[in-house]
Amino acid sequence: MAHARTPLIAGNWKMNGLVGDGRGRAEDLAARMKGLDNPPFEMLLCPPATLIAGIGAAIQGSGILLGGQDCHFHGGGAHTGDISAGMLADLGCSHVIVGHSERRADHGEGNDLVRAKAAAAIEAGLIAIICVGETAAERKNGETLKIIGKQLTDSLPKNSTAKNTIIAYEPVWAIGTGLTPTVDDVKEVHAYLRSRLRRRLKADGVAMRLLYGGSVKGSNAAELMAVDNVNGALVGGASLTAADFWPIVETCL
Ligand code: PEP
Repeated sequence: MAHARTPLIAGNWKMNGLVGDGRGRAEDLAARMKGLDNPPFEMLLCPPATLIAGIGAAIQGSGILLGGQDCHFHGGGAHTGDISAGMLADLGCSHVIVGHSERRADHGEGNDLVRAKAAAAIEAGLIAIICVGETAAERKNGETLKIIGKQLTDSLPKNSTAKNTIIAYEPVWAIGTGLTPTVDDVKEVHAYLRSRLRRRLKADGVAMRLLYGGSVKGSNAAELMAVDNVNGALVGGASLTAADFWPIVETCL
């Protein structure tokens, strides 16, 4: 599979941004992307749902990809406040994040629901970015690999392939805290994810991209991106300005 592990740098804006500042940020990034000749990486922006259409217009022709932060597992119907994967695709999204630890914590989302959302995303033609990660207590208790292994097994739908699924390892305790695991810890978890994916999906498991997320910033991105089996980053806080996000992107050049 050519370009199977093309690095992906994804910005998760979470519940941040209004029409004006979101558009300005996207236009800044689009201009920078247009200055690159055939970039050897992909950049993805996942704005809040209210901004997706506007950001889609702002990044047109730049090669930047557009994604949602969540989707419902049904294609439509009586689900007030929810958004289907098909609606995201209709707005020009190619990706959607599912199972982010903030969704798991704030909305009680478990692995079965995450799997259903990922399956729905794939059926709608989107690439599902499935998040897994241990809490601080789980790491302290030496349960990291056990927890991550179970999240991976139970959150990965049957229709997953290397082309339609990406796994993001995001230690919960590293998200938005400025703390990061050591390079050796990231290497251990990503090697474990790779071995489980290889066992379950064979060639697709070898080719599937694995992102690291959790306090990635310009100052630590290069060393994290150099870790074996790290094929990109899922970035929260540092994706909120082009000035912070771009140095992370540049580690892929
Ligand atoms: C995230 O929430 O996906 C994330 C990685 O956040 P931050 O980069 O702010 O830690």
